[in-house]
Amino acid sequence: MNRFFVILSFFVASHLQAQQTDYVDFKTAKAQLSIVPEKQAVSGFIEYEFKILKPVDSVFIDAVNMKFQTVYLENKKISYSNDGKKLWVKHDFKPDSIYKLSFNYDAFPKKAMYFIDWDADGGNKQIWTQGQGKYTSNWLPSIDDMNDKMEFDLTITFNKDYEVISNGKLTNKQINDSTITWHYDMQQPMSSYLVALAIGKYHKRAETSKSGIPLELYYYPEDSLKFEPTYRYTKQIFDFLETEIGVPYPWQNYKQVPVKDFLYAGMENTGTTIFADSFVIDSIAFIDKNYVNVNAHELAHQWFGNLVTETSGIHHWLQEGFATYYALLAEKAVFGDDYYYWQLYQYAQELLEQDKAGESTSLLDPKSSSTTFYKKGALVLHLLREKVGDEAFKKGIKNYLLKHPFKNVGTNDFISEVEKTSGQNLKPFVDFWLVDKQFHYEAVLGSLEKSPFIQDYLKVDCETNAEKCAHYLSSNISDEAKIKVILQQPNLIKVKDFQNGIKVRQAITMHLAQIPSELKTAYESLLNDESYVTIEKALFHLWLNFPHERKKYLSQTKGIQGFNDKNIRTLWLALTLLTADFEPENKQMYFQELTNYTNPVYGFEIRQNAFLYLQEIKACNDACKENLNQATTHHSWQFSKFAKTMLEQLNSN
Ligand SMILES: [Zn+2]
Repeated sequence: MNRFFVILSFFVASHLQAQQTDYVDFKTAKAQLSIVPEKQAVSGFIEYEFKILKPVDSVFIDAVNMKFQTVYLENKKISYSNDGKKLWVKHDFKPDSIYKLSFNYDAFPKKAMYFIDWDADGGNKQIWTQGQGKYTSNWLPSIDDMNDKMEFDLTITFNKDYEVISNGKLTNKQINDSTITWHYDMQQPMSSYLVALAIGKYHKRAETSKSGIPLELYYYPEDSLKFEPTYRYTKQIFDFLETEIGVPYPWQNYKQVPVKDFLYAGMENTGTTIFADSFVIDSIAFIDKNYVNVNAHELAHQWFGNLVTETSGIHHWLQEGFATYYALLAEKAVFGDDYYYWQLYQYAQELLEQDKAGESTSLLDPKSSSTTFYKKGALVLHLLREKVGDEAFKKGIKNYLLKHPFKNVGTNDFISEVEKTSGQNLKPFVDFWLVDKQFHYEAVLGSLEKSPFIQDYLKVDCETNAEKCAHYLSSNISDEAKIKVILQQPNLIKVKDFQNGIKVRQAITMHLAQIPSELKTAYESLLNDESYVTIEKALFHLWLNFPHERKKYLSQTKGIQGFNDKNIRTLWLALTLLTADFEPENKQMYFQELTNYTNPVYGFEIRQNAFLYLQEIKACNDACKENLNQATTHHSWQFSKFAKTMLEQLNSN
């Protein structure tokens, strides 16, 4: 097919699609759903209310591969057409009138709704949804265009052994014979990509924000000990953001739900954030990998993204840049100023790398990378605040939100408010930071250098002169500066440098792979650090460097699992299988355990580690290969790509 024809028809189609909002304004959708997970089927009855803005002869609802029955307009049966993407109804619609449309539907969603472990023996049976980038209209007939916001009230009937979580307030839980019917009520409208459903076995604990909003925090029944480290600072973050933004939290309550094999770190569905259960952690894991940033980011979206939503991808930074910036402000309140400046400095480095690769784009380019939308967006807000001052910035933010609540916005809606509160002409700022493709690194650095922490960090430079740096690792410079020294001159490390804190010791573990014999004892002490990253690296490096001590190291680390991806346990199993004289009688059992971790009942992060180690030790047997084959169809594209690549490698050997 001619490529130009394809492009042209795409533009025509999207143009027509965008137009429905000019004629029709959907107000409410009340849906009653039931789900049969074994068949991956959803069926339901929906009733919509919409207002006609201009005379029009047809109205559509996005609905992917669905079947419809009993389609009624104003309580009268109406004929309809279904092209597999949309349901169309024809009628002489009159302006300023409100219409009711209702129907029954059946769907077998291929994406946007995911059925986890229902065909497995064991595992963690769940159903969860992901609207952004996938379209809710795969499981719930709705309007894909995010400019048509409506109030969605979902009622779901499901097996009574499971919790059912959706947007809004649970107003009724009706207990039937073998099922429960859950009634959720929203009071304000949202774009359809923010509608969510999560079903699984959960417990929950509730807190209340300073302003009285219920915070409902879900967790797996077996994870009660991980609850505190996982949700650490949740209430503090919530109270901070509400005060900082200056506009009350817009929704009735706030729920957070971990799910298995999620597609991203987290998703800010309205009042109902869903996040990857790899963030459900114990207090040792907290040091290296915690939920704080994602927690704050998704919460910030409840204002920036959900209360005010971009009109199109051109303004995507109004969602991601703002969520990234406000998450960082919340973290600053928890971890301090140095942390804040350090993160911004890291963002700037990433953007500089992107710039050097010739991949910089305008912040207003809808095809920009995540690095640009999230990190340049956050830096731009930091710089804007510096330019106009705290007061004008905060007042501008507040006015911007209060002027467009539950509506859609563009960049100008924001900038014009800050122009008003600051009395400044921001066109030069917008041209330089938002429109211009180039990333102005020097100008960013000029701002970040106001932090004494960043100044000290930049002063430390051991690339050319190792001698003058010999004392640094035992001086009182920051951990980050010491880590820079370790990266530049790992050969400077002395026994006394192991007296540093956990982060510097971790950097030693990561970057000192060849262990001089005089450092052996000090290095062995790393196996006792409260960091799963440090223990994993230290075990591996010690095992490699000192073959006659392998049994000792394996005995010492036996039973440590590590992060949720079992980073330490899977490494330990692989090393054990390679160490002939360590527990020879248990080799078969350990091999079985490592192979078992490739099974779909485990999360894909564990499976990936197990696959990698089995490949490394050339022991991917038939069971492993069968699981690998199954993994090639996994809904996470990164994991399925990994599985396909590994399968090809195995087959070519
Ligand atoms: Zn985000």
